[in-house]
Amino acid sequence: MAHESLFSRREFLISSSVVAGTVLLEPRLLFAQGPALGAGLVQKIRAAAGNATITVQKLRGDVSVMIGSGGNIAVLPGRDGKLLVDAGIPGSRPRMIEALTRISPDPITRLINTHWHFDHTDGNEWLHSAGATILAHENTQKHMATTTRVDDWDFTFPPSPAGALPTELIKSEKTLQVNGATLRLRPYQPAHTDGDISVDFTDADVFHAGDTWWNGVYPFIDYSTGGSIDGTIRATETNLGIATTKTVIIPGHGPVGTKSQLTEFRDVLVAVRAKVAALKKQGRSLAETLAAKPTAPYDAKWGSLVPPDLFAKLVYVGV
Ligand SMILES: [Zn+2]
Repeated sequence: MAHESLFSRREFLISSSVVAGTVLLEPRLLFAQGPALGAGLVQKIRAAAGNATITVQKLRGDVSVMIGSGGNIAVLPGRDGKLLVDAGIPGSRPRMIEALTRISPDPITRLINTHWHFDHTDGNEWLHSAGATILAHENTQKHMATTTRVDDWDFTFPPSPAGALPTELIKSEKTLQVNGATLRLRPYQPAHTDGDISVDFTDADVFHAGDTWWNGVYPFIDYSTGGSIDGTIRATETNLGIATTKTVIIPGHGPVGTKSQLTEFRDVLVAVRAKVAALKKQGRSLAETLAAKPTAPYDAKWGSLVPPDLFAKLVYVGV
């Protein structure tokens, strides 16, 4: 509905300007009122991975994180081979291999996907060919195996190649013993998507929250595959219930952080949700709600990745 009304308005403006014989739309306005505020992001992120620097940060125990190719990638090396949480983007493959070799000489044997999104699974195929078996939520496999449209990115993903598909599927909590460590995998209720899982390296007390957490930046929320603002807030409360003040928390995007930063994220989500819900309850349209700048107090700090208008829209459609 929201898309339709925005689109009709844009069409109306275009036909008005044609009638008037002049082009009245400035590009910024056209973008702000277009049907997909996140159009072009997929192409941009995939292309950026070609030049991205990959940094390795040692966390605790034997757990490291690789940052720079799509979502943050946790790595646990050891005698069973390297386990990776999320797969990054293939454009970074040579630099990912360098970074992985710096961590340890162990072969890659296991991959866990926190959810189906391209910036966490595009690397599945090459990692599988390098030796990784792939574990994920059953809904992650389902979305990857079929054509999946994400309207908010204005992008349609074709089915993934067979080698990229997870073959070990879970829908409830699972414990793994890998490299002498105990990993607890916990599926969420639908949050960022309907296939999110967290990975808890319990001995090291390092927790990968996938895209249920974006540290210091507004989150993207994927309504096309079951995500919602309320599910995202609920998942954040779950994460806050698991993490202690000592837990090292890996977000899907943004720097590795702490429970106090996760608490701040929760507070921003709750505050923006309240503002947007109040505006919607007053009968404001999406365009009117965006014009009221409900995220304004947070934009300078939080608006650097997902644009404020896109985040506000993602909240609007869910309240
Ligand atoms: Zn995601």
